[in-house]
Order: sequence, then C-alpha cells, then structure tokens
Amino acid sequence: VDTADEIGDLAQTINTLAGRLERVEQERHHLEQVRNDFLANVSHELRTPLTAMQGFLEALQDGLVEEEEARQKYYAVMYAETLHISRLVDDLMDLMKLENNELTLAKFPVDVGGLIEKVALSFRPEAEEKGIEITVERPDTLPKIYADKDRIVQIMKNLVKNAIKFTDEGTIALSAQTDGNWVEIAVSDTGIGISADDQERVWERFFKVDRGRSKKNKGTGLGLAIVKELVELHDGEVTVESEPGKGSRFVVRLPVLDDQRMIS
Ligand code: ADP
Repeated sequence: VDTADEIGDLAQTINTLAGRLERVEQERHHLEQVRNDFLANVSHELRTPLTAMQGFLEALQDGLVEEEEARQKYYAVMYAETLHISRLVDDLMDLMKLENNELTLAKFPVDVGGLIEKVALSFRPEAEEKGIEITVERPDTLPKIYADKDRIVQIMKNLVKNAIKFTDEGTIALSAQTDGNWVEIAVSDTGIGISADDQERVWERFFKVDRGRSKKNKGTGLGLAIVKELVELHDGEVTVESEPGKGSRFVVRLPVLDDQRMIS
C-alpha cells in the first residue's frame, strides 16, 4: 500500500510540474510574441517615413523636380519626415527607460496651475489655425505636487497635442482642481471621441484607433503609453472618458505634496 501511495504522490508531483512547465512555456511564447509585435511595429513606423524620403530624394536626384517652388515643398516634406523619425526615436527611448526603471525623476514642489497656463499659451497658435479655442480653468491657489516639472509638461503636451489632432473645430478645456489629497488635471476636447472598447486600448504601445485615418495625423501611437507610465511613476493615475462624436476627457490625478511648507 505504501509503495502504491508513493507512486501516486510521485505521479501527482509529475503532473503538477508538467502543468507548471506548460505555463512557463506559454508565458515564454507570449513574451516572444510581444517582442516580435514590438519589432514589427518599430520597423513599420520607421519604414513609412523612410520610404517617403527615398521617393522624394530620388525624384530630386533625377532632376525630375524642375520648379524651385516644388523643390522647396519636397524639402519641407522630407524635413517633416525626419522630425517624425526623431520623435519616434525619442518616444522609444523614453519608453525603454520607463520600462527598465531607468528614468529618474528630478522631483521638486510644482505649481500645476502655472504649468497649464504655459502649456495652453504654447499651443494656442496651433489650435487657432484649426479654429479651436483653448480655455483654462483653475482656482487661484492649488496645493503643490512633488514632481518632475518637465515630465508633467510632457504629459500635458501629449494630451493637448492629441486633443488638437482629433478635434476638427471647437474647444479644448484645460483645468486643474483639488480633490482630497489629489490634484486633478483634465484635458477635455469636443473632437471625434473614442469608443468604449478603444478607450481600454489607447494606452497600448503603437495603438491607433483608425490606422488609415491616423496616418495623416503622423502620430507614433506611443504618446499615451508614455503618459500612463509617467503618471504612474509619479504615483498618480490617468483615465479617459469619451463619447464618439462628442469628445474626450483625459484626467490625470497626482498626489499633493504632504508638507506644503516645502513650497519653494
Ligand atoms: P498618437 O501618436 O497616434 O496620437 P497616442 O498613444 O497618443 O498615439 O494615442 C493613441 C490613439 O488614441 C490615437 O491614435 C487616437 O486614435 C486615440 N486618441 C488619443 N487621444 C485622443 C483624443 N483626444 N480624441 C480621440 N482619439 C484620441
């Protein structure tokens, strides 16, 4: 009986191990898939602007562009494509650092109210070109947060850039307010909106709702992935509410600085 029990126990152990091995194998397979998808996405995002530039350069080299005005246009487009590649590389570097915990924050007490005013100011010309008004709403005083100012600006810029990109005409409202121990920054637009299913996916690397349409928007699909990582690195959270055809509202919540006396 003892031997039979032992064999039974052994069989069970083997089963458990086999199950574990299978799960490890599945996880390995999944990671490989994620890595391959990532590389395919990076290659695609790089190849698109490079192909365009090659085409323009060939035409110029072959002397096919005779008019000076047309030539200038070609240069401008090629320059824009190099900017796109730079942006992609910068975004990728940021993401890598974030994911490897290599991004260090230079944290100081930060006044969010002043920052949103500055961000609004810097985007007004671009917004006005599309007939979009940028408004700011904030109380006279807000508790400070303990944060890396440049990264908070990067977060806001990414959200406002998207709001402008996906709004044809209307208003973008920037606001800051206190909610208990949080400072809440919101970027609302009256743009095309995002469906409930896509709202869950916009944080994924390279995700774009409509690849066809986004193409002319020249995004990298990395902006919101970076926003989410940066907000979480500040112990905050970011959420989206949206209704297709009506607009979107992105809310960033950041913890207020415990000791407001540290205000510089
Ligand atoms: P992208 O570089 O394409 O803007 P993001 O990561 O910033 O990349 O955003 C991912 C996708 O989420 C966008 O391509 C777009 O489809 C959708 N999206 C983001 N912000 C908005 C917005 N304010 N309104 C509508 N759609 C948005």
